[in-house]
Amino acid sequence: MMAVRVIVGLLLIVAAFGSAGRRLLMLYRLGRTAQPVEPGRIRVGAAQLRGEAAEVLGQRKLLTWTVPGTAHLLTFWGFLILGLTLIEGFGALVDRDFHIPWIGTQPWLGFLEDFFAVAVLLAVAVFAGIRLRHRPAREGTRSRFFGSHLGGAWLILFMIFNVIWTLLLYRGAQINTGNFPYENGAFASAAVARVLAPLGATANDVIETAGLLLALGVVLGFLVIVVHSKHLHIFTAVPNVRLSRRPRALGALQPVRSGGKPVDFDDPGEDDVIGRGAIEDFTWKGMLDFASCTECGRCQSQCPAWNTGKPLSPKLLIMSLRDHALAKAPYLLAGDDHANVDALALAEAQRPLVGDDGVITPDVLWSCTTCGACVEQCPVDIEHVDHIVDMRRYQVVMEASFPREAAVLLRNLEHAGDPWGRGAPARLEWTAKLDFPVRVLGDGETLPEDAEYLFWVGCAGAFDERATRTSRAVAELLHTAGVEFVVLGSGETCTGDPARRLGNELLFQELARQNVQTLTSAGVRKIVTTCAHCFNSLGNEYPQLGGDFEVVHHTQLLSRLLAEGRLTPVRPVEATVTYHDPCYLGRHNRVFAAPRDLLGSVAGVRLTEPDRTRERSFCCGAGGARMWLEEPLGTRINENRTDELIATGAEVVAAACPYCIDMLADGVAQRAAEGVTVTDVADVLLRSVRQPEEAS
Ligand code: SF4
Ligand code: SF4
Repeated sequence: MMAVRVIVGLLLIVAAFGSAGRRLLMLYRLGRTAQPVEPGRIRVGAAQLRGEAAEVLGQRKLLTWTVPGTAHLLTFWGFLILGLTLIEGFGALVDRDFHIPWIGTQPWLGFLEDFFAVAVLLAVAVFAGIRLRHRPAREGTRSRFFGSHLGGAWLILFMIFNVIWTLLLYRGAQINTGNFPYENGAFASAAVARVLAPLGATANDVIETAGLLLALGVVLGFLVIVVHSKHLHIFTAVPNVRLSRRPRALGALQPVRSGGKPVDFDDPGEDDVIGRGAIEDFTWKGMLDFASCTECGRCQSQCPAWNTGKPLSPKLLIMSLRDHALAKAPYLLAGDDHANVDALALAEAQRPLVGDDGVITPDVLWSCTTCGACVEQCPVDIEHVDHIVDMRRYQVVMEASFPREAAVLLRNLEHAGDPWGRGAPARLEWTAKLDFPVRVLGDGETLPEDAEYLFWVGCAGAFDERATRTSRAVAELLHTAGVEFVVLGSGETCTGDPARRLGNELLFQELARQNVQTLTSAGVRKIVTTCAHCFNSLGNEYPQLGGDFEVVHHTQLLSRLLAEGRLTPVRPVEATVTYHDPCYLGRHNRVFAAPRDLLGSVAGVRLTEPDRTRERSFCCGAGGARMWLEEPLGTRINENRTDELIATGAEVVAAACPYCIDMLADGVAQRAAEGVTVTDVADVLLRSVRQPEEAS
């Protein structure tokens, strides 16, 4: 019997490791055809270790969805603990009495192994239930599994089921033959042993060996399937999380790099590639992202584009890139000699990365609002937004290909420095209705000693009618609180956010450098702004260009002024208010509390939350420069969000970003929602801070 174990076991091991090894080598070589990563990626610091502990060991993101998260937590830890049974199994191939040295006979270990074996079985049942309940055949595109490889997922569940029952089978038989390492504790194995005991000693002897070989065969087969399937994430998730941006791949977009080196936009190299125009233009971390997708569909379920009938699903986008990379692999691995590359790989190599017949269609690429909901949800920390913007960069800068309407936006930004083309001279018009003077920093002047903040008004704050009300409200509140501030007036130009998110990195660089120069030469240190997009660019992206400023959002500053007693809400504002988290304030920059604190400070305000709130807030549809693009596909994102906000029963929809306010106000108008107003949280606060005679 032992000879059978050794021979069959060895054959299984050689076959499985041979097949898996070949596949892993191919994947490794494919990764080597990609671009180098930026140096900071490989650094191992406290943030990286914390991320690894929270995301991988603690399964933090997965647990935000309680039922599947708990099932996955049990499966993950089950795989770790049951790894010990693998050692026991391989040991038993050559020694029937094998046990792990030191701890291998302890009852607690036997219990732990059996506990997780049962837990994994239960988790498999939960996963099966979830998949049946949310199957695409039943829910259509609303199913998060829509477009995933369903057969492969069922096969994996079946394999996990096989791993567990074969494990319990041979352990039960081991108990009956007297070869089990644990005297007690292994409750599930003992239960199986009681069932097998009546079969007699010889039968249990055979079952032990057959069960052991079956169990190892299933595990090794599982290994082969995993490395050939989407469940490769079992191996790639850990390095992928470790190498992901910390604390998350949101906020700033990454500087453009070509061949692993930063592109000098003053003097770009002739061979510099701006963005990603082919799969091999991605970095190997990008490739690792594609290989790590579990097809869980969490990103898809939260994506505003997908949820409103657009063709963009972040999951399908990542899957398409992965499938393309694998299909093109023979071509990429062949180096310069493509004579022996098969026809399919050659055809795949000819497909454009983006195009009507491409891997990613333009409708998919341009549907993204860069809201970050996908990045927020992804349990393996895939960096969708970076990949999407990188592909846009190539389209815009290298191919001059972008939606027709974007041309107007880009032209206005280039010529007037704002998306509406109003021009610098009109940037102070919003101040006309104020009953106190706003100090303006003239050209070449430095910040006066007594001015604490530079109020960055932003293009919307200066030109958009609704947003100018917010600018005035904030100016009045700062004035009331005795905060000295100045504005740049005609010295301000667009931060470049829409240009950058559209992919026009050249224009972003031009606008941002101009602003950094203006702010730095004026000696500005502290900036307050009402626009979530300006807040993100100034605070997170300008440091990439040497602009280091302390940037606060107006909700943060006002909340502090309230706490310090420099602002006092005196009049109740009797209203049910719901708050919409702007993506670039909340998800991208984690400012969740300040706007709610402001609303909470006003007597009479009854704050009610929409279903999708805070980290799971649903985009208004304006981000990623989509504010200036048409939305011909599917239904409108702003109306979807507006419906949800109206459903809270609120009379006031409060937000903290001019673009959100515009989009939601349009949504309310579209729905003809009587008695519902959309406004900035600062406006609600101002109504309460103003003395009765001022308010009238
Ligand atoms: S950033 Fe938002 S819109 Fe873009 S793919 Fe992700 S979830 Fe969808
Ligand atoms: S990208 Fe992330 S969230 Fe989306 S399906 Fe893949 S693993 Fe899941």
